Amino acid sequence: MTARTHDAFAFATLVTVAAFFPPSNLNLATLVVSIIGADIGALIPDMDGAGNRLWDLLPAGDNLGKILRRVFYKHRTLTHSIIGVVAIYKLLEWVLVRGLNAGFLDEKIILASIMIGYLSHLLADSLTEEGIPLLFPLRINFGLPPIKSWRIKTGKWFENFIVYPAVWIYVIWFIQVHQESLLQLFRQTT
Ligand SMILES: [Zn+2]
Repeated sequence: MTARTHDAFAFATLVTVAAFFPPSNLNLATLVVSIIGADIGALIPDMDGAGNRLWDLLPAGDNLGKILRRVFYKHRTLTHSIIGVVAIYKLLEWVLVRGLNAGFLDEKIILASIMIGYLSHLLADSLTEEGIPLLFPLRINFGLPPIKSWRIKTGKWFENFIVYPAVWIYVIWFIQVHQESLLQLFRQTT
């Protein structure tokens, strides 16, 4: 999947989870950081690719990307596995608890949002032909549906002209249907 499909997918997943499992306490700053966090979370799994936009945020990012790409040597390995999910969760938990001012931003909600973005990425990738190596380092790729030829080809017309718009149509439809619970979230922030 391309980065923009992952962006859209992450936002759709965040809105869905927020409507069904609304946080009991939410301030505006946490809400904004959570939306950005879900987007960043959705880009983290592809950091093993040197072209990832997240590397552009770092100085000399591209070289670092190239080095790490050599370390991971193949796209979709560790970062697209269960071990990767647990590792990134533990790492982010450690960083966020130390890095954020707990009175101002709710680091639990932000951590959950980043992980929602991350997991939405894995779900989206599992819909593609390549699938994902959930049990890495075991080289078995999993996908939905299990029959490979029924899955999506990354970056091709079906993704760009069907899947991508469909995700946004879903978001608009979902917001319509769940207006009340989503508005409730905003009311909390005022
Ligand atoms: Zn990916």
